[in-house]
Amino acid sequence: MSESKTFTKDPTCGMNVEVATALHAVRDGRTYSFCSDQCRARFQAVSAGEAVTCGS
Ligand SMILES: [Zn+2]
Repeated sequence: MSESKTFTKDPTCGMNVEVATALHAVRDGRTYSFCSDQCRARFQAVSAGEAVTCGS
């Protein structure tokens, strides 16, 4: 009955993904959802790049 699916946006490709079946990555205490491992890997690569930009 109450089959409410929660969707969120894949920050890499901008696609709507279902939270329950998506891949996840946590960054800054926030959980991001991805449609595929490729998107997650790209997000983590970009995030790491941004983190390194400020400092070192
Ligand atoms: Zn994606």
